[in-house]
Amino acid sequence: MMRLAFWALAASLMLGAPSAMAQGTFSACLAGIKPLALAAGVSETTFAAATAGFTPDQKILANLNRQSEFQQPIWDYIGAGVSAKRVATGRAWAEKYKPILARIEQQYGVDRHTLLGVIGMETNFGSHTGGLYVVRSLATLACARYRGDFFRDQLIEALQILEQGHVTRAKMLGSWAGAMGQTQFMPSSFMRYAVDFDGDGHKDIWNDVPDALASTANFLKEHGWLAGQPWGMEVALPNGFALQGTGRAIFQPFAAWQRLGVGRADGKPLPASGEAALYLPAGARGPAFLITQNFTVIKSYNISDSYVLAAGHLGDRIAGGGTIRAAWPRDDKQLSHAERLEMQQRLAAAGYDVGKLDGRFGEQTSAAVRAFQIASGMVPDGYASAAVLTRLQAAPH
Ligand code: CA
Repeated sequence: MMRLAFWALAASLMLGAPSAMAQGTFSACLAGIKPLALAAGVSETTFAAATAGFTPDQKILANLNRQSEFQQPIWDYIGAGVSAKRVATGRAWAEKYKPILARIEQQYGVDRHTLLGVIGMETNFGSHTGGLYVVRSLATLACARYRGDFFRDQLIEALQILEQGHVTRAKMLGSWAGAMGQTQFMPSSFMRYAVDFDGDGHKDIWNDVPDALASTANFLKEHGWLAGQPWGMEVALPNGFALQGTGRAIFQPFAAWQRLGVGRADGKPLPASGEAALYLPAGARGPAFLITQNFTVIKSYNISDSYVLAAGHLGDRIAGGGTIRAAWPRDDKQLSHAERLEMQQRLAAAGYDVGKLDGRFGEQTSAAVRAFQIASGMVPDGYASAAVLTRLQAAPH
């Protein structure tokens, strides 16, 4: 979880983090953290065993300063994430863990296909969990002072997890940023949301599938999952549908969407209750989705919109649903990080509130783009396209 968010932060905030660390610096830093760990209930024995033979992970530090200039287009991301092979694995899991998934649904109110979609996207059903010793990764990031105290605090919680005996050092594996096991929980999420579903005394999100699935369900439930509601669905908009007044944060009842002539792309009826917002991930030329509050709940697991869409869609495919019907605008020029920043800067200079100038396009940038599009007579789809940037560059200052 949160892997994409960390990369985005790495790109925007942490240029200038050390790209290498001397052993002496690392050891001194750990010695400074040790009293805090002991105060948090970690024993001398656990601390010594967890950090024996410790060296900083220079590869992680080198990666922190590497900035990817272009984002993968959403259609490539979804194509790779929701592959036929992954759908097949998800269906096999749905069959294999059927009774457990039924119990988890009953206890947490989160449907099985969403859980399988999330685990499928996070770790390809437990097969890509990262493979790095989490305590070493976190200690490296903590001692680089990457994101202030965040990783130091995660490190202390990781040591507490070892102290509590949920997992051994050898099996405590995860991503470079410390996201652990099949669920890719950060240690703080583990402490709050992991559960021992099979009752063997260990919260084992690394090797125990029932624990991993139930921990994911508990995380989503605690973040406000609405039982019985889907994450969203692809929809077809009527010809000439007015996009003014819509937006991914502007919710209205499904019944109201139906009155506007919006229907599901697969021809099935819209949900009888609940509300949703219109989301056009690639603008008016691409597929349209109605998204519910549960889309936002999945975002608390991983902040990337593309991730949420892929996880939701993967779950639907596992449930037997079809592919996304509308074509993606694959000829769209992808904006570079510099161009994304320029777009935000120009919008801000023109008086639109884009939020933080970080090259990341969230709800706020989308709303600002939409307002600019309305003011300049463009199709107001809130999509920060190359055409919008060109128009901004031509706008009088
Ligand atoms: Ca267990």
